[in-house]
Formats: sequence, C-alpha cells, structure tokens
Amino acid sequence: MALVLAVLAAGCGGATRFDDGLSEAGDRLQPDTTATTRPSTTAGATTTRPAEAAATPPPSTSAARSTQAAPRTAATRAPAPTTSSAELAILRAANGPPGGAAGFILQPTPARSLVVEVLEEPGASANRPALDRVLSDLRRYSAKPVSEVHTPLPPGSAGKRWTESELEALADRSAKVPRGPDRFVLRLVFVRGQNARSPNILAVTFRGDTFATFPDRYASTGQQIITTVTVHELGHLLGLVDLYLDRGRADTRNDPAGGGHSSNPGSVMYYAVDPSVLGSLFGGASDRFDAQDERDLAAIRAGAGFGSNPR
Ligand SMILES: [Zn+2]
Repeated sequence: MALVLAVLAAGCGGATRFDDGLSEAGDRLQPDTTATTRPSTTAGATTTRPAEAAATPPPSTSAARSTQAAPRTAATRAPAPTTSSAELAILRAANGPPGGAAGFILQPTPARSLVVEVLEEPGASANRPALDRVLSDLRRYSAKPVSEVHTPLPPGSAGKRWTESELEALADRSAKVPRGPDRFVLRLVFVRGQNARSPNILAVTFRGDTFATFPDRYASTGQQIITTVTVHELGHLLGLVDLYLDRGRADTRNDPAGGGHSSNPGSVMYYAVDPSVLGSLFGGASDRFDAQDERDLAAIRAGAGFGSNPR
C-alpha cells in the first residue's frame, strides 16, 4: 500500500472542484454503452482475457470481447482485413469505454510494451512531475517497458469549449504512434480551453486508451492537485474503480459521479477534491492508489477478466 496524504498548499485559482467528467462521458453515451462501463451489468458475459486473445483466439472470442468492450466505435473503426486477432482485440478495447482496456494495459500479453503518447497543444504542455508519476505507475503496476512520445497538437483552442467527441476526433487525427498487436498506446491529450459541460471539469477520460486534461483550468492549483488529476485519469484507464472488475466495492457506494470512483479521500480515485477545503477537511489530496486500488490492479495484471470478481 502506498498511501500519501500530503499537506496541500494550493493556490486555488479558478478551480474549486476536482471533477474529471467521467460521469459526463457516461451521460452522453447510450444506455447500453454506459452499461459496458459498469462491469456489474455484464458480469458473466466476459470470458476473453488479453492473453487468450494473443493465442490464436477463435473468432467468437474476439467478437465476444468487442461486444462488451467497444460497441460504440466498432462500426467506424473497423481495422483492415489483415489485422491480427490480437491487434483487433486491442484496438476494440482501446476504442471502447474507459477502463475496458485495463487488461491489455496491465497483463503481460498480448501487449508486451506500453507507449504513452503525449499530445500537447502549445501553451498546454504536460506537467513534467505528473507525467513522470504516470510513467512510473505504469511501470510499477504493469511491469512492462514504457516509452514516452510527444506529439504536437495544432494551436489556437484557447477559450474553446471541448466536447468529448471533439477531443476524441482531435486525438485520432493527431496521433502519430501506430497501434499494433504487441503494444498498447495510451493517449494523453493536453489542450487549451475547457470542457464544454463545465469549467470545473479539469480532465476527462472518455475512451479505453485516452484521457484529456485542461491545464488552463488547473495550472494554478499547485503540483499536488496537478499530479492528483493526472494520476486519477490514469486510474480510469487502468479500470479503477470497478470499471474493469466487478468487485462491488463498497467504497464506490457514495460516488456522486455514478461509477469509477472511490469514497476514500486517501485514494487518488476519490471522486472529488476541493482545494478550498482540502487543507482543513482532509489534510491533503492523495495522489496515490490505495490498498484496494492496488489489489485490483494486481488482480487485473494477474489475468482477471473483464467483469470478473477474482478472489
Ligand atoms: Zn474520475
């Protein structure tokens, strides 16, 4: 367990609430698609594991996974006919809902390495210490080689109000790192402007391989919040909380965002961090996964399937 409660000395700036918008992403999805972000509704339907996908899976196996992990993009993102089964499974999970690709990110095969592609608009560069934490956490919890690639985004979106669809399209047309059968590419998007739904949304995870953050909204909050926001979004890509497994974790009971969050202020997956009260109420914001988070990450890495509840 790595639990850190650091004293927060946040210059709050305009941010009064840490709201990463995962629920907003859910709100915009169709009900059946939203259900796939909540494994509890699909428990039992999932039998495919990434390792199985790598080892000459029957067509029905790949289809089963794609059905539960990435229904909303299959029609528009169909890979070329020559794509291998493993690559197809990776792409479908990557293009699917948040958390659904955690098995491919954490399990040893078929994606034997990870690439973090950092897509940055001028004036919205990734925060170096926060990015270093993302890289070190990925190495720690996946035990895979992790490389980092920076890709520039076009300038000019200062003041823009981004929808998730626009962010997704931007990432898809700008990304340079090819996705392949033996690697998983995580896309981290850093843009000027704000989320269309609220200026209080500091970051948003909207797909299995991609999250976006809005440095204009949090740059003045201080390093602790910036790291927390960034690692929190990584946690969603890694399937936390119960976006991949179906633990029925009690600590999600009070999640006002409706899923993917912990009610433990000592976890980076805590659903809200309010810089104005953190110092007095909680003593600080955690930028670390808590013991339950780490147990889940270990279970996924060990081969747990989507929607499962391993002992
Ligand atoms: Zn979140």
